Amino acid sequence: MKNIRIAVVPGDGIGPEISKVTLDVLAEAASSFKDRLKLDFVEKNIGYELWQETGEYLEINGIKHGGISEDILKCYDSTDAMLYVATSGGSFPQGFLTPFPVVRRRYGIFANVRPAKTLPNVFSIKSDIDLVLVREQTEGLWMGKEHGVENEVMHAQVTISRKATERLAEFSFELARSRNRLKKVVCVHKNNVLPKAFGLFLNVFKEVSHKYVDCSLVDMHTDVLPYELIIAPEKLDVIATTNMYGDAISGEVAGICGGLGIAPSGEYGVDYAIFRPVHGSAPDLKGKDVANPIATILSAAMMMEWLGDKHHSAEACRIGNRIRQAVESVLKDGKFMTPDLGGTASTDMVAQAIIDSLK
Ligand code: ATP
Repeated sequence: MKNIRIAVVPGDGIGPEISKVTLDVLAEAASSFKDRLKLDFVEKNIGYELWQETGEYLEINGIKHGGISEDILKCYDSTDAMLYVATSGGSFPQGFLTPFPVVRRRYGIFANVRPAKTLPNVFSIKSDIDLVLVREQTEGLWMGKEHGVENEVMHAQVTISRKATERLAEFSFELARSRNRLKKVVCVHKNNVLPKAFGLFLNVFKEVSHKYVDCSLVDMHTDVLPYELIIAPEKLDVIATTNMYGDAISGEVAGICGGLGIAPSGEYGVDYAIFRPVHGSAPDLKGKDVANPIATILSAAMMMEWLGDKHHSAEACRIGNRIRQAVESVLKDGKFMTPDLGGTASTDMVAQAIIDSLK
């Protein structure tokens, strides 16, 4: 019997209600394999609401991160992956940051993967979109390195290193190879404006591409990608880019097919990965039973597939695959759609329809 331990972080806003139904879906999908695979869930919350309740925070390098503690992190340490449902930007007071960067750093997360795929009965600008955005997550313009004379001139620093770019490029080519679709990596940069920093980024992608002769590399400027995403998204496969630009383009990637309610994501380190919906805590929907659970349910499917690879567990892969098929069948049927997809079904109704389809 194989044991897999999963950290579950409901988070803020709609997080707890979505988390509950996602665990119900996972339990149903896993029930067929209960003699061979045991899933243990370690549920510990972090986030803005925890900070409001307890005032807990963790100080790292002089920066206070609200709603997290070393004891909570120690509970996650014994797990194999994390399902983190709803992160809120929150309204932390000045001097405090959110807890999520601490979790990312703890588990060596370096690549954020956001798939966009045309799904049945869901708005999509083309009928055959199937792409992934890979965003570097350790450097770029995201390091918070700023200096200058406050209220006069401030500078923010972009960092691009060979080491982090090599890791990202290898991850992107491996992904293109395993997806086995167009086997194409589009490296998105702005080397005509920052020839040294983005020049290094592109050159490392070119060097790494020589190891992947079965894949192609396309280089694209940051201003061209938003156009290509609208005009010919079906010709895109793996899009790899830097931290801040990846963040800026991620909303468009979610918007070209389906929107936030169905957009999943995975954040990968070498030995650990965190799976969560692209949406945040949607406080406007909290407690109304109308939030779409599919983004988180598809994130759970991605998690099981990754765990299956990591633990050489055909059962875990199968669970991920079954969840994906059940979601597609419910969408195809079209009877249980939440308001963001034009329907009137509740969160619970959609989850129950997915569970019924798994039976
Ligand atoms: P936060 O402060 O946590 O980032 P936010 O409201 O600014 O919250 P999101 O949580 O990403 O950002 O939500 C943006 C909007 O998208 C919400 O107002 C909501 O209407 C919609 N939305 C987000 N998640 C869902 C969902 N699961 N189902 C339906 N609509 C959603």
